[in-house]
Amino acid sequence: MRTPVIAGNWKLFKKQADAADLVTALIPLVKDAVGVEIVVAPVFTSLSAVREKIRGTNIKLSAQNCYWEEEGAFTGEIAPGMIKDAGCSHVIIGHSERRQYFGETNETVNKKIKAALKAGLVSLLCIGETLAQREAEKTFDILRSQVTDGLAGITAVELAAIIIAYEPVWAIGTGKTASDDQAQEAHAFIRGLVAELYDQATADAIRILYGGSVKPENVKGLMSRPDIDGALVGGASLKADSFAGIVNF
Ligand code: PEP
Repeated sequence: MRTPVIAGNWKLFKKQADAADLVTALIPLVKDAVGVEIVVAPVFTSLSAVREKIRGTNIKLSAQNCYWEEEGAFTGEIAPGMIKDAGCSHVIIGHSERRQYFGETNETVNKKIKAALKAGLVSLLCIGETLAQREAEKTFDILRSQVTDGLAGITAVELAAIIIAYEPVWAIGTGKTASDDQAQEAHAFIRGLVAELYDQATADAIRILYGGSVKPENVKGLMSRPDIDGALVGGASLKADSFAGIVNF
C-alpha cells in the first residue's frame, strides 16, 4: 500500500513573509487530510519561516535542490546536511528546470541523490521527456536513461528514501497536462523499469508522482490510475486553496 504524496514546488517565488502567509493559509485547509503525505518546497531563504509555521502540523518541508558535497570551497552551494539542519525531510533533485537552465545531468543528479541519502533526506527525483523527445518517440529511452543513470549504485533498501516524479517537460507550467492514459503509460513503464533494475517488491513499493499542470480539476482522474501515487505541483501550489484542492482530491 503506497501512501500518496502531494508536493508543492514553489520554485523562485515567495519571500519569507509571503511564504509564511501561504503556509499559514494552507494549514487549516489540509489539516484533516489523512492517508496523504503533504510536502512544500519553498526557496532556501524561506525554509526557516515556513518551518516555524508547520511545526506540529501534517505538512513536511522540502528544499528544491542541493549540492553533493557536505562542505568545502563551493561558493553558493548548499549541502544536504545543511538542508536537513534547516528542518527539511525532503529535497527535489533533477527538476527539468535545473536540467534545462543549470546544466544538471543524470550524473550530477545521481551524486546529489547519494549525498541526500547520506544526510537522511528523502529525494524527489524528477524525470521526464521534452516535447521533441516525445514526438521523436524517444520517451521511453529518455526515461530509461534518467532512471538507470540517476539511480546508479543505489540499493533497493536505499530506494525507500526515493520518490520518483514523472514530469513531462512539455506539461510543466504550460497548462497542458498529460492525459490520464499518457501519464499512466509512463508510470507503468517506470515501475516496470524499477522491477527490472531491482525486483518486483521494490517496484511495488516506490512512489511515482505525476507533475505537469496538475490542478484541482484534473487531479482525480490522474490519481485514479493504478501507478500514479501523487503529484508534484508547481503553479497550483502557490495558492492555498488550489493546493488544498489537490491535497483533498
Ligand atoms: C513543477 O514545477 O514541478 C510543475 C509540475 O509545475 P506546474 O505544476 O506549474 O506545471
